[in-house]
Amino acid sequence: MRKFNFCAGPAALPEPVLRQAQEELLDWQGVGCSVMEVSHRSPEFTAVAEAAEQDLRDLLSIPGNYKVLFLQGGATAQFSAIPWNLFGAGSKSADYIHTGQWAEKAIKEARRYGEVNIVASAEDRNFSYAPAADAWQESDDAAYFHYTPNETIGGVEFPYIPEVKSPLVADMSSTILSQPLAVERFGFIYAGAQKNIGPSGIAVGIVRDDLLDRALPDIPRSLSWKIAADGQSMDNTPPTFAWYLSGLVFKWLKAQGGVEAMAELSLKKSQLLYGFLDRSAFFSSPVSVESRSRMNVPFVLADESLDKKFLKESEEAGLLALKGHRSVGGMRASLYNAVPLEAVEALVAFMADFEQRNG
Ligand SMILES: *Cc1c(COP(=O)(O)O)cnc(C)c1O
Repeated sequence: MRKFNFCAGPAALPEPVLRQAQEELLDWQGVGCSVMEVSHRSPEFTAVAEAAEQDLRDLLSIPGNYKVLFLQGGATAQFSAIPWNLFGAGSKSADYIHTGQWAEKAIKEARRYGEVNIVASAEDRNFSYAPAADAWQESDDAAYFHYTPNETIGGVEFPYIPEVKSPLVADMSSTILSQPLAVERFGFIYAGAQKNIGPSGIAVGIVRDDLLDRALPDIPRSLSWKIAADGQSMDNTPPTFAWYLSGLVFKWLKAQGGVEAMAELSLKKSQLLYGFLDRSAFFSSPVSVESRSRMNVPFVLADESLDKKFLKESEEAGLLALKGHRSVGGMRASLYNAVPLEAVEALVAFMADFEQRNG
């Protein structure tokens, strides 16, 4: 029996997608073997790759002057790829907003290749909010401006897109495809697949094509966006199964009504849970109201000594992976696209009952 899965990543996948993959696993499209066993340059796989790109373009209305890349090494490889790809046009300094653990990893990596200017930091309040734009110290010669629209661990989401002078770069690993996106406001968007796209092993990059000639001369081949773009993301063997499965998720998303439907659903799901947290005398959210994530909802129990009991009983009730990140403790419910409203309803009902018995 499939249970309700609140894992932060690798995360829940849509059940119809898994069923289709299962059905066609052994003999895919009548070729007599699985999709994992055909050449990535075969006409069959090329069609999968092209359809995945087109469906993603349709879902996010990606303008024609942007390249869509399917990349390896996860979002983490992009922490390094960004400075390598953008520090070659003169300036070796970049602006970063520090909002928590993922932003910090991106910052640390960029510091290896150039100068990082922290334009704003939420460290003063334990990374529980997204800094407002009026407090920023943007630099004049930044090669780019990086931020993390949704901090997966802290559960902090920017309610706005920063208005900046240099190309805007965003780590959308845990928020992409959860609402319509003004792609034209960005220079580079990237996302590891295993939260809101597909299985782990692949990452999506969306890059404005005028940024493809700014790489440092010694850039490692595997990190170059230009080489990826010129070679249809097949300069070397791509993770074909992850690409195929991501493509099935894109088709599923379209059938659900696209990102508009996901925006509505994500609001409904998160408001249901935050509403309960705010009424409860036992559970609470540590995140500032205006910066609360629709995707990742951390919460704590009034009595920490009940954490273990909560986790044990929730798992027995068919609610998986509610343990908070090891660095922050407490609980976290991730509500990505593939998590249905019924999962959140079941979670809230369980929490209300737990509070009654233990509060
Ligand atoms: C999960 C996550 C990452 C790391 O992704 P990997 O694919 O494991 O490298 C980076 N940034 C954010 C915001 C994430 O949620």
